[in-house]
Amino acid sequence: MNLTDWYPFVVPFSNGWILHDPTSLGEHLVYDASDFEVNIRTTQAGVVIAASGLADPEPNGEWTRYRLAGAHTFAFSASDQFLVYDAVAGAAAARIRSYYYPGYETEGAAILNAATRAIGLFEAKFGTYPYGSLSIVQADLNDGQEYDGLVFLATKFYNEYDGSARSNLTAIGVHEMAHQWWFGLVGNDQAMEPWLDEAMAFYSEAIFYKYIYPNSADWWWNFRVNYFGPSGYVDTTIYDSPSFRAYVNAVYLNGANFMEALNYRMGDDDFYRFLQDYTSRYGRGRATAYDFFAVARQNTTADISDLIAAYFRGNY
Ligand SMILES: [Zn+2]
Repeated sequence: MNLTDWYPFVVPFSNGWILHDPTSLGEHLVYDASDFEVNIRTTQAGVVIAASGLADPEPNGEWTRYRLAGAHTFAFSASDQFLVYDAVAGAAAARIRSYYYPGYETEGAAILNAATRAIGLFEAKFGTYPYGSLSIVQADLNDGQEYDGLVFLATKFYNEYDGSARSNLTAIGVHEMAHQWWFGLVGNDQAMEPWLDEAMAFYSEAIFYKYIYPNSADWWWNFRVNYFGPSGYVDTTIYDSPSFRAYVNAVYLNGANFMEALNYRMGDDDFYRFLQDYTSRYGRGRATAYDFFAVARQNTTADISDLIAAYFRGNY
């Protein structure tokens, strides 16, 4: 049982309540950061809970208490079938747990391995991992889905896995982990400016392959981006596109093309200092495209206006 957006919450207020209509294309909810304390009690023995929070949940009488500070959502999953692998990753020694089903030991271990590498790399490039733990949960979804300190990955990715990092399990798994910085740490309006979390999480896959599996970096760009011939404005909303493919091509894929051009224009030193500056200023809050480009310009002497004009509809 997967519980996501399962409780009532107050949407942000900024010149009005920020509550957008759902669509089939992307996420529409916007959250302020909150401190969560969730107590869970099961009425049946043998149920394993996968949840966000501190490195370890605390016993609280008959209940188990989960604390998660400065997060946008609290999701959890419960199963009497879950098996678990765990490891510690990053400077903050976050506890990484891979929850998988019997028969998926190889894949459950592989995604844990990818997670420890990704968390270590992204901490060095983006800033400290924001939570005490990360739960990676195998689930009967069609895709991956990110929450704070918890990500779901489709069983089909586990079924397809052939032992290579050139796989959806690794690429999409790393994508959802990158959302811990782009969505989890730095929030945004997912409906009106979805590129701020999706282009960033998607481009983080490229960063992962560039540094962890450099022999597969070209594979990633061909398999994930070039094959689809992406086009469209990166600052497309979830309401603008005629199809999911057109939305992904504009926001995710052309977003990665823009980020690669921005990285190249700024150079690695300025580019990664910019990303760390951005997470430190807007962490536990929400950023806009204007914020993103203001911080970028403060970290480079290069003129980036032609890149913005080429990829964005808005004038930032
Ligand atoms: Zn995503």
